[in-house]
Amino acid sequence: MQAEIICVGDELLIGQTINTNAAWLGEQLNLKGIRVHRSLSIADSREEIIASLEQSLTRSQVIIMTGGLGPTKDDITKHTLCEFFETELVINEEALERIAGFFRERGLPLLEVNRQQAALPAACRVIQNFRGTACGMWFEKNGAVVISMPGVPYEMKSMMEEQVFPLIQAHFCTTEIVHRTILTIGAGESFLADQISQWEDSLSAHHIKLAYLPSPGMVKLRLSVYGKTDGIDEILEQKIQELRSLIGTYIYGVEKESLEEIVGELLRGKGMHLATAESCTGGNIAHLLTTISGSSDYFMGGLVAYHKDIKVSQLGISAEIIEQKGVVSREVAEAMALGCQRNFGVDFAISTTGVAGPLGGSEENPVGTVWMAVAGPNGVKSEKFRFGKNRGFNIDMASAAALNMLRKEILALNG
Ligand code: ATP
Ligand code: MG
Repeated sequence: MQAEIICVGDELLIGQTINTNAAWLGEQLNLKGIRVHRSLSIADSREEIIASLEQSLTRSQVIIMTGGLGPTKDDITKHTLCEFFETELVINEEALERIAGFFRERGLPLLEVNRQQAALPAACRVIQNFRGTACGMWFEKNGAVVISMPGVPYEMKSMMEEQVFPLIQAHFCTTEIVHRTILTIGAGESFLADQISQWEDSLSAHHIKLAYLPSPGMVKLRLSVYGKTDGIDEILEQKIQELRSLIGTYIYGVEKESLEEIVGELLRGKGMHLATAESCTGGNIAHLLTTISGSSDYFMGGLVAYHKDIKVSQLGISAEIIEQKGVVSREVAEAMALGCQRNFGVDFAISTTGVAGPLGGSEENPVGTVWMAVAGPNGVKSEKFRFGKNRGFNIDMASAAALNMLRKEILALNG
């Protein structure tokens, strides 16, 4: 079964909106074993919509469209679909009731343009939108389905998850795919591949496929089996255990867990508290930690100690050490973590100091050099990293590395 994604919207073509819908749909379809072989962005234009659909229908069974369903005149997808499928608009009572309720709840008048959003092609199956006013549409033609969704990402996603994917699965009786994702940090893709090459060879006997999915500082290993067979869960579990014995030090979690979640759970489990003193990461570590709901249970707060005067006045680092060793040094990183641990009265403190770039740097500490430290119940530990030339990348990498360092220090308490 082949799928295509067609995203409609002038804003996508002029770089005003990044096409995150295509990225999300591509990922989700792939996870469900539906191969996407084309993804298009097109203008809010009748001719473009018709031409793309005609071409897609010659070779694909699932065509997913997003965008252009709003009430304004530039949103023409619905009218064009009506023309394409030779049908006409009729008021869908359920949609009208829902849209009217939407405006009533907000104390807003129901305008005729909003009422018209409940006018939908007679030939389609209506996909209700419980988070907005633009309905989705499901059309069938010559064994293929065309699904049109609104462009607003969170509306589209919930409609896909709650209604469209189950409909696709039922319509095409697609085989279930089993996935397991193992999350690693601190080792590159080729290094991992080398370490696990024999293990990787053993997967084919069980028809397990392996994919390497790299992101800054991390590599996800995804195991997939097409078609759920008896005992496959146990086999996957056993394969993951084998993997742990090979590269366990790099594995930080499974499935969709994030490093900040895992670190949070570890701290919560021990009833311990954390604070941060960040220089080159500018508060990004604190930001990551606070994306997790309930993080106030273990995260006390942080200081962005960016200028050296703040490192001195707020963290109690001696100006002589900074003078002698340089601000990007083991000594300063460790003193920052210890000062933070003391000032915040916490069990663990993380610090970062480095050259994020693109300007600055020296021969000894080129752009991308970061010293970081973790102060904990058993003293302070520090490490030097050399990342790249891109500022955003360096901040992401340093944040992930620091959280990983903390994770290892918390785990080391058990041993
Ligand atoms: P609405 O009822 O909100 O008008 P719509 O179906 O007409 O829904 P659009 O007008 O195309 O959707 O877009 C609505 C919002 O969704 C805009 O903010 C737009 O930038 C965003 N959007 C549209 N398409 C995409 C896309 N492919 N990826 C990410 N965002 C998108
Ligand atoms: Mg639009």
